[in-house]
Amino acid sequence: MPANTKKATGKMPSTKSANKGKPAARESIKPENKLAKLGLHNDMDLALHLPLRYEDETTLMTIADASLRGLQMVQVEGVVTACDVQFRPRRQLVVTVGDDSGQLVMRFLNFYGSQTKQLAEGTRVRVRGELRHGFFGAEMVHPQYKVVNEGAPLPDVLTPVYPAGEGLSQAYLRKSIANAMSRLDWQDTLPPSMLDTLKLAAFEPSVRLLHNPPPDVDEHALIERSHPAWIRMKFDELLAQQLSLKRAQAARRAKTARALPVTGRVTADLVKQLPFKLTGAQERVLEEIRADLRHSFPMQRLLQGDVGSGKTVVAALAAAQAIDSGFQAVLMAPTEILAEQHFRKIAAWMEPLDVGVAWLSGSQKKKEKTEALAHIESGAARLVVGTHALIQDTVQFDNLGLVIVDEQHRFGVGQRLALRNKSFNPAGGAAPDEAQTVPHQLMMSATPIPRTLAMTYYADLEVSVIDELPPGRSPIVTRVIDQNRRDEVIERVHAAALEGKQIYWVCPLIEESEALQLQTATDTHATLSAALPGLNIGLVHGRMKPVEKQIVMEGFSRGAVHVLVATTVIEVGVDVPNASLMVIEHAERFGLSQLHQLRGRVGRGSAASVCLLMYQGPLGGTAKERLAIMRETTDGFEIARRDLDIRGPGEFLGARQSGEAMLRFADLATDQWLVEKARDTAQALLQHAPDIVERHLARWLGGREDYLKV
Ligand code: ADP
Ligand code: MG
Repeated sequence: MPANTKKATGKMPSTKSANKGKPAARESIKPENKLAKLGLHNDMDLALHLPLRYEDETTLMTIADASLRGLQMVQVEGVVTACDVQFRPRRQLVVTVGDDSGQLVMRFLNFYGSQTKQLAEGTRVRVRGELRHGFFGAEMVHPQYKVVNEGAPLPDVLTPVYPAGEGLSQAYLRKSIANAMSRLDWQDTLPPSMLDTLKLAAFEPSVRLLHNPPPDVDEHALIERSHPAWIRMKFDELLAQQLSLKRAQAARRAKTARALPVTGRVTADLVKQLPFKLTGAQERVLEEIRADLRHSFPMQRLLQGDVGSGKTVVAALAAAQAIDSGFQAVLMAPTEILAEQHFRKIAAWMEPLDVGVAWLSGSQKKKEKTEALAHIESGAARLVVGTHALIQDTVQFDNLGLVIVDEQHRFGVGQRLALRNKSFNPAGGAAPDEAQTVPHQLMMSATPIPRTLAMTYYADLEVSVIDELPPGRSPIVTRVIDQNRRDEVIERVHAAALEGKQIYWVCPLIEESEALQLQTATDTHATLSAALPGLNIGLVHGRMKPVEKQIVMEGFSRGAVHVLVATTVIEVGVDVPNASLMVIEHAERFGLSQLHQLRGRVGRGSAASVCLLMYQGPLGGTAKERLAIMRETTDGFEIARRDLDIRGPGEFLGARQSGEAMLRFADLATDQWLVEKARDTAQALLQHAPDIVERHLARWLGGREDYLKV
């Protein structure tokens, strides 16, 4: 499970501890069960378990020729002329093998006693390995070998090497796969005419070729996965993904939601109250959301906008429409700091309009919480803001119409689903049809998702993008600075504070140890406090009690705290417009999107902002390149695109790993053209060929489609 989900869901019950104290029973796991562990449950699973690489056992060389080959894999065949266990310099098995042309030594530093019998003098063996010229002549250390009869035929195809779990031998896998392939129904899921149009290879020959390629195959294309056989696999896989996402979308549209058509008093008064005018982009996405909310099937829209683009006010106006239409709205944020900040801001907007806003968080005092829960249940609270405490069973809504999830990639799929399922209060006499009704859902994310990813992972969502920042922002200047110039940086912090600016100082990410990370934050706080005695230096980190955090954050918002030393808890959403200098220590340890998020905490006001990325040298090539990207652009989409080029898609996926789990073969960084092809094909098939859709999904997803019904 990726780390970000783990963080959001808290501690998982450990299955290990359940066995503690019991004697470790040494179960021998059956090979079938080991196959199941690799996800190989049926014949098609086995057929689609494709090799990682191949070994060429199709040719034999004489030992003399092999000796001329330098360090290359070669295969020779000969008869054992000596087999001894030697003890110098350490215990080892030394086997001499000869053919008509010469001799070589096989050397095994680890071996079983039985091998001395297996390799007794006179045994004929086929040996594969790299031939070196040691002190005693030609030798192979730990070669692969096979006992053979004279004249045993050579394979006429390359030998596949499969991804294998612990204790599963290649031989067993090869046999299981070959058996499975002999039993399979190979019918192509796509008709020949379609394959022609799409210029795709047929399914069966593709699979067979990948398992057993002929020796003259373009091996480079196999390894690079650009061979037509691979292209067919990737296409099929992407097609299955697109079909499944589109079907999930259709299923959602078949559900009912309460139409929220009214934009009335609350909406109008809220707009009047705002201290700014909405940007064109905000107006546009708001229109998209408003149109969705009028429907009686649930909206599922992702609102993307770079950090600072002004998503919160859009969320508030969407909530206003739900409230004007007579329903409740809820806004959930991934951290206490962020949720709290939303609550303050939104409550300040809403309360003068006589709209009850409730606050719910895990750290709340019991009495406050009970009160909040009562207001949520009675409907006195029209808008509820909080952390994932909102998804607990004790939270009952009166009539929830709209769910808004901020920084949605921070939540697990299950968490978002849990909130959506809370629509109506079953005890409150909801009509039976309402039990089937789900609220509209608006998800917000500042993690810009490159187009390819959006197309694959979010194919079942509507997407709105705020592509414009509010006016009057001055661009952030980013500098990359060697850590040994720390004193200068501290001086600069001092000067900025004297000018009335506020500063974030972000402590290094230490992934291996949270304790060490806290220690560093505390140390940095102490050092800065000592170096800058005239300034008020605050500290926030993940282990502080929420009230403590709240006090520090509030001090920083008010301007009473000049410098805020922080771990990455401030990464998401925090909005203090007067902060205009950010120092990030060990910037080389952060991911680019994380740096972008952090940096987005400054540049929110009208003052020119600066971000100093300190690094510890020497930097490798990739690290240099990554920091250079940060220096060159502040455009989140550009950063994401370039990050994807460097690192692949892992970082962006967050809560939708379900989609990732479906992709084994396609590589989103290189296969974009195939994604587009698959998307168009999926569209056409869903319209005109439902039988093909069924067949294809059955082949590629089996039971796995459930993951996506979220
Ligand atoms: P994000 O999209 O990162 O969540 P926020 O909603 O926190 O951004 O908005 C960033 C800042 O911009 C806030 O201080 C907010 O009040 C301000 N803001 C939002 N919309 C506008 C606008 N149209 N004009 C001026 N300032 C705006
Ligand atoms: Mg935000």
